[in-house]
Amino acid sequence: MEKIPSFSKNHDELKRGLHECGISHGVTTWDLRFKTPNGGDYLDSAAMHTIEHLIATIVRNSAHKNDIIYFGPMGCRTGFYLLTVNLDRGGVINLLKDSFKLVPDFSEVPGNKREECGNYLEHDLESAKRECAEYLELLEGV
Ligand SMILES: [Zn+2]
Repeated sequence: MEKIPSFSKNHDELKRGLHECGISHGVTTWDLRFKTPNGGDYLDSAAMHTIEHLIATIVRNSAHKNDIIYFGPMGCRTGFYLLTVNLDRGGVINLLKDSFKLVPDFSEVPGNKREECGNYLEHDLESAKRECAEYLELLEGV
């Protein structure tokens, strides 16, 4: 089989931050890289799961909710993918900064009831908040 585009980028050169992966069918894929690839420090599964619930909820309730196609974690546990339409890099950075700033306000994980989630016991709000605060700091610098 052919190597797919996401395996074709050199992960040794991929830094933490926000990267545009390209546009397909009018949809832009953004790489929210929380951790250095193969750096030995990875997102904890429970924290990653909670970040997915939080950020998906926040962006889908934002002024850009109609421009959001998908938000979800990378299997390698070093970050997330955000798929958007009608948003350029500046727009995505603003959306993400505004979104990550709301995370500390949450006192519970949205969608964490058994009937709402496929692994409702695996959440960690405090670790998710810590990871999101770190990523927000990174975003402030891009
Ligand atoms: Zn879930």
